[in-house]
Formats: sequence, structure tokens, C-alpha cells
Amino acid sequence: MTLYSELQSNPEFTALRAVSAELGSDPLQVQGPGGNTSIKSGDLMWVKASGTWLSDALSTDLFVPVYHEALTEALAADDGRADDVGPFTCREENPSGLRASIEATVHASMPATVVLHTHCVATIAAAVRTDAPAFVKSKLAGLPYAFIPYAKPGIDLARAIREHAPGGTQILILGNHGLVTCGATVTEAHNLLQEVSARLAPSSLAGSAGIDDAFQDRLSGSGWIPVPHGPTQKIAHNARLLMLADGRTLYPDHLVFLGPGVTIVREGEQLTDVLDRAGQQQFPSKLVIVPGHGVAMPDTATASDIALARALGDVLVRIAPQATVSRLSEDQEAELLDWDAEVYRQSLNKAGR
Ligand SMILES: [Zn+2]
Repeated sequence: MTLYSELQSNPEFTALRAVSAELGSDPLQVQGPGGNTSIKSGDLMWVKASGTWLSDALSTDLFVPVYHEALTEALAADDGRADDVGPFTCREENPSGLRASIEATVHASMPATVVLHTHCVATIAAAVRTDAPAFVKSKLAGLPYAFIPYAKPGIDLARAIREHAPGGTQILILGNHGLVTCGATVTEAHNLLQEVSARLAPSSLAGSAGIDDAFQDRLSGSGWIPVPHGPTQKIAHNARLLMLADGRTLYPDHLVFLGPGVTIVREGEQLTDVLDRAGQQQFPSKLVIVPGHGVAMPDTATASDIALARALGDVLVRIAPQATVSRLSEDQEAELLDWDAEVYRQSLNKAGR
């Protein structure tokens, strides 16, 4: 009997697959291949593979076995090898042959048996606020949580978790990133995830807007389409949402799938010129906002791109009116794209951002 077939007969693994599929099917928790879940069993931690969708957790083998103690030791020693989970994968037991997510480092950093990580939009709306630590404190009183300032996923985020999460922490609010919950069982971790999501959910949302017919007509033949999501369209019609959208990237997956920040058509600019420019940049901007009219993305957008375009609206409508936001720095954007910071800065300047 292989360790994987042994795991498959474990009811907790069955429960994890079900909860993973549920979270993966909820765009308010997981967008595209974002988010990941894990369970530790003996020497191995089974964690979602990179690039796979949690929504497929019931129908596909998504979980990659990782020697979590060796990975944790490497992280504690700041061993650069831990930035690539590959060397810590148990190759003999890897049914999918896939690579573990880089966020396996987050899962290994938490000693609990079950770890769930999502890009919960209510959590991100809290975690991008400049007053995020104090705001979260006011909402999560009594819960075993820690606020972790933004760090690049991998060895840096693992170090930040060691520095900021005392023993017994079961909830991590990851600054400019998302939510992690842990438990001895799937039910315990899932209950905490639901509790935090509910406590951080705002009492009202900033609204939603339909797709403007005239905007759709203007885009026809341009290779761009209106983003098919009311809250994202609302950004074009609400001065405060537009202000929140206008600037550098707020959280990593936005950058990875949609490019840095958004492009806004300014007074006196022609829409066609801006669309051409946005699509041709070294780091193409896949979200173009025309104030008063709508929000567009390329008609070649993948399902993941669309999921992240929806997420921006879902996050921004949840940010309270009085809040200000902190954004990823150019250096943080560059390191996520694995680009030299100076070359990246110059390419952004050239693109007029
Ligand atoms: Zn994440």
C-alpha cells in the first residue's frame, strides 16, 4: 500500500478535498489557481500543486507530498533552497508528478495538521488598508490570529511568519495578500476561515454597475471586451473606487495575472491609443478603465485573468469609505516578476506609469 493510497482512506483527506473544492468554487475566497490547502500525515505534508485549481480537488489528484520537517528546518536556517519546494518533494509518492505551490512554505511554517490558505476578498480588503493591523485587531478580538506584514511568498514570507506569529497562532492575516487558517481537523480550520471571513466582511458594499452598451460598442473590433462583472464595472463609475484602483498593485495575484496595477484613460487621451499602448508594454496591463464608461480587458483573457479581474472589483467594493490603502512597492512588484528592480523601474517609466 502506498502512502498516497493510505492517505486516500483517511476521512480527513476526503474532508480536505471537499472543503478545497468548495473554497475553490467560491470567487470570494479563491480566484483561478490561487489559494492552497494542505494536510500533514507522518513525515509528509500533502499540499496543492502549483498552477492547479482548488475547484478541481474532488475530481483530480492535486496534492503533492513534501517532506515538511526538512522544509521547515531549511526555512528556519534561511536556506535559499527552501525558495524552491522542488528539492523537498517526495518523488516516489507523487501521484500527479506536479510541483508543490511556492506557498507550501506557508503551510510548512504552521505546525497544525490542516492548513487552508485563500485570497478571501474581505480579508484582502482589510489587509491592504494602511491601518490594517489596528483594523484587524478591532474585528478579530478573541481569535488566535497574527497579522503578518507583506513579504514575498517563499522564504521571506516564512521568515515574517516566524517573526510575527507566536506559538498557538491558528489564523494569519497576510498583509496585501490573504488569509491562512489552521486546525487539528479540517472542520476546525474551515470554521475559523468562515469566522474570519464573516467578521471582516463589511456591512455594506460600494455597489455594482451593468455593462454600458455604448462602452461595449466602442470596444467592438478593438480586441478588448468589458470585464463581465458588476463590481469591477462599478470602478469606472465611482470616484472613490477609481482612486483606490489608481496606483501600483495591491496584492500579488493581480500583478501575476493582470500586470502592474491598472491603466486609466486620462482626460484628452484616445481610448484606442491607450488600448494599443496597454497591450504592447513589456508588462502588459490587462485592465483598462475608462472613467464614466467601463472597465475593459483583452478578449484573449484566460479564465484565470477573468477571475482576477472580477476580484479587483470584489476587493475594492469592500474597502470602507474612510480607509486608505498601501500598495506593493516597485521593488516588491519586480521581485514577484523575478525582474531586476532597476530594469523593471525603467520599463514602467517608459510605459508612462
Ligand atoms: Zn496566496
